[in-house]
Amino acid sequence: MLAEIRTNPKVYDFIIIGGGATGIGIALDASSRGYSVLLLEKSDFTKSTSSKSTKLVHGGVRYLAQGNIGLVREAVVERGLLAQNAPHLVKNQTFIIPTHNFYDELLYTVGLTLYDLLAGTLSLGSSKRISKKKTLERISTINSNKISAGVEYHDGQFDDTRLAINTLQSAEEMGALVINYCTVNALLKNEAGKITGVKFTEEESKEVFEIKGKQVVNATGVFADDILQMDSPNARKTIAPSQGVHLVLDKSFLPGNDAIMIPKTDDGRVLFLVPWYNKIVVGTTDTPIEEESLEPIALDEEIEFILSTTARYLTKAPQRRDVLSVFAGLRPLAAAKREGKKTKEISRSHKIITSESGLLTMIGGKWTTYRKMGQDLVDKAEKLQSWEHIASKSEHLKIHGYKLSVDYKNPLCFYGSDDAKVLEVAKEKGMSEMIGTTFNIMKAQVVWAVRNEMARTAEDFLARRTRCQLLDARESMKMAPQVAEIMAKELGKDEKWQSEQVANYISVTSNYILE
Ligand SMILES: Cc1cc2nc3c(=O)[nH]c(=O)nc-3n(C[C@H](O)[C@H](O)[C@H](O)COP(=O)(O)OP(=O)(O)OC[C@H]3O[C@@H](n4cnc5c(N)ncnc54)[C@H](O)[C@@H]3O)c2cc1C
Repeated sequence: MLAEIRTNPKVYDFIIIGGGATGIGIALDASSRGYSVLLLEKSDFTKSTSSKSTKLVHGGVRYLAQGNIGLVREAVVERGLLAQNAPHLVKNQTFIIPTHNFYDELLYTVGLTLYDLLAGTLSLGSSKRISKKKTLERISTINSNKISAGVEYHDGQFDDTRLAINTLQSAEEMGALVINYCTVNALLKNEAGKITGVKFTEEESKEVFEIKGKQVVNATGVFADDILQMDSPNARKTIAPSQGVHLVLDKSFLPGNDAIMIPKTDDGRVLFLVPWYNKIVVGTTDTPIEEESLEPIALDEEIEFILSTTARYLTKAPQRRDVLSVFAGLRPLAAAKREGKKTKEISRSHKIITSESGLLTMIGGKWTTYRKMGQDLVDKAEKLQSWEHIASKSEHLKIHGYKLSVDYKNPLCFYGSDDAKVLEVAKEKGMSEMIGTTFNIMKAQVVWAVRNEMARTAEDFLARRTRCQLLDARESMKMAPQVAEIMAKELGKDEKWQSEQVANYISVTSNYILE
């Protein structure tokens, strides 16, 4: 793709800064309408918040409780569309809300029936009250003293980074150029102060490019203010980052197929316990923080809060030593009216800011609505640029890897229809061997990720092309030397590169481990 930029310079319709959910959704929608697209990501795709979500494709039961019907309606519709467009990555997940009394039972049964109704024909299944006996049968580890009954409902559950990679592949198939490890350092402007393109550095070679674009988009999540200040040094702050932490536990803490949703923790938040790749993801927190970072670190009080809240609902209290991985992400919440508000009350809906220079900035939103956010942004750009409107084509667009009837026992299931191609690579010499013993990861998957999914570092593979880092951080560290060795062969790198890869991986991943 870099060679294409070098040899075939042109003016792109869209230059998108940022390869997280927001930028990827915009790339999908814009390229599906036939616009030329260049997406630039300074690190790996989804390195920031978009790889650290709760893995839910959901309407947000909590927003319903806040009366934000419009937001919930939009999200449950997108949830249904995503389940149709990427069935290999979005699973229909049953959740059980443990109730404490009759009032809870009534409230959640009525509330969740409304939640189902809002989804209309795109509903994933009906909600219903289930007896205490049934709740205990389905969740054998729930503390029976604490509950009166349960309320069952359905939401989607997904793999955020795999959806990102597959969506980028879809965009690429429609002509988009999407490149990781390219940092936008400056915005190019004409004499009238209008943006005409970007200057970016390709981080591996340090080559600098100046590329022209008609519509430049700032989709940098919690880093949006950096780009806004690049545009105008006096730009006001738009982002109020809020940290969310998750712990990953062994499946024995929640052995069945159901997830648990605790609607009101001590401080009024929601806590999820969700089965994911044969482990349990528990979270999250909501802690306002000042400094944005690509690798935020979980605070001790957040870890203790999750452990103690979980302990109250389960028969066996998880301890620090049970935590297989801890990861933190930053919500790019719109800061506009932060003063005096708790972060859980700040709007989660997305917002587009139009700068005088013509820069469009998209902030807020969530993974679930990434396609619709893309659609809204492209609609806005068409108006701003006075382009003739082209209708969005992303609503029913099948995402790369689309495959019905997923066998979740197949360790390659998250590749969707690409699984057969991965198996082709496994026929190459030695490639069907496993890396380590904890995860069912074949050497062929590393080669596949390098050749087809733009994995450039051991971390790209272990954290985002597969999910080893999040599923068991310690075990993933043991895999790093072999991963680096295979990648080095594939990329033509030397031993020094290999040892740097291992050292970098261990340094980053040590923050995912609790001592
Ligand atoms: C804890 C937590 C749990 C969540 N759970 C869910 C969930 O279960 N379901 C759901 O639907 N939503 C969830 N969300 C919301 C969702 O994850 C976010 O809204 C979404 O990931 C934000 O994506 P983004 O692209 O805006 O930001 P990011 O993912 O941060 O992406 C921005 C990208 O821009 C890049 N960038 C920055 N500066 C530059 C530059 N100069 N040049 C090039 N690139 C640059 C960054 O490297 C980064 O990769 C959750 C959020 C959090 C924090």
